[in-house]
Amino acid sequence: MVDATESLKTIVEQQQALPPAAIHLGQALMGLWLLQGQRAKLKHPTLSLSWNNRGPFGQLYADSQSLGQARVMIHNPKHYNDETIEIPLGGGELQVIIWTGGKRRQSLVSSQGDVVTDLLEYLDTSEQRRCALGLYVKQVWNEKTEKVEIQKAMGYLLEILPFDGGVDSDLIADFWESTLADLGPLGEWGLRDEHVFEDMLASLMGTSDLAYLIGEYPVKFECACSKDRAEKALTLSLNENPDSEMAKSREVKCEFCGKTYEFK
Ligand SMILES: [Zn+2]
Repeated sequence: MVDATESLKTIVEQQQALPPAAIHLGQALMGLWLLQGQRAKLKHPTLSLSWNNRGPFGQLYADSQSLGQARVMIHNPKHYNDETIEIPLGGGELQVIIWTGGKRRQSLVSSQGDVVTDLLEYLDTSEQRRCALGLYVKQVWNEKTEKVEIQKAMGYLLEILPFDGGVDSDLIADFWESTLADLGPLGEWGLRDEHVFEDMLASLMGTSDLAYLIGEYPVKFECACSKDRAEKALTLSLNENPDSEMAKSREVKCEFCGKTYEFK
């Protein structure tokens, strides 16, 4: 389970994302942390998710270098239309890179343009894990400030583990499918602000007696950019593409945190 509300607030503010992109950013961030949480016992569960899609948002990218840390960006954070905030990423590919125990594992799955669907496809086909995933972003548009206000970003990842206790795992899968269908979207579970995880567990288990947390760690949006890295990017740009905006202005803007580095 993950509560990424505070991190997503920071990200949306820094990238000045509009509501449709805020959903994708939030879901990619939470998906990343939940995949990392599945491997939290490993020493350095670092990973990256990269959606290369042909839709209006362009690339969506998230990575994490240490447990609970992450950064995420979307190429076009301001795309919107007047009809809906749920605009898919378009068709494309999702690339997942996971480092475990010093080994790099790279997988490519075709993307339907929806973070939840794509991550489930990845878990099923590349890792043979049977999972359910819910990623919820609640936001309101503030007319006065003309900005998005993120109110909630939370999610769960449920995995059906292989079990030889005589119970058919298809039956267990059916049970969870109907339980989750009855519960509906995460936003309708009636979770209390101060007890998000306890309430989420109790909803899943149907009782609060059988549900307890066995571990917890903080999550945080943190960018790895620096003046050094920005300078390298500028040098590369000056050599390879001297007509680019970056080369002409001698300014490098970080796509993750929005920080600008000037080299005059
Ligand atoms: Zn940055």
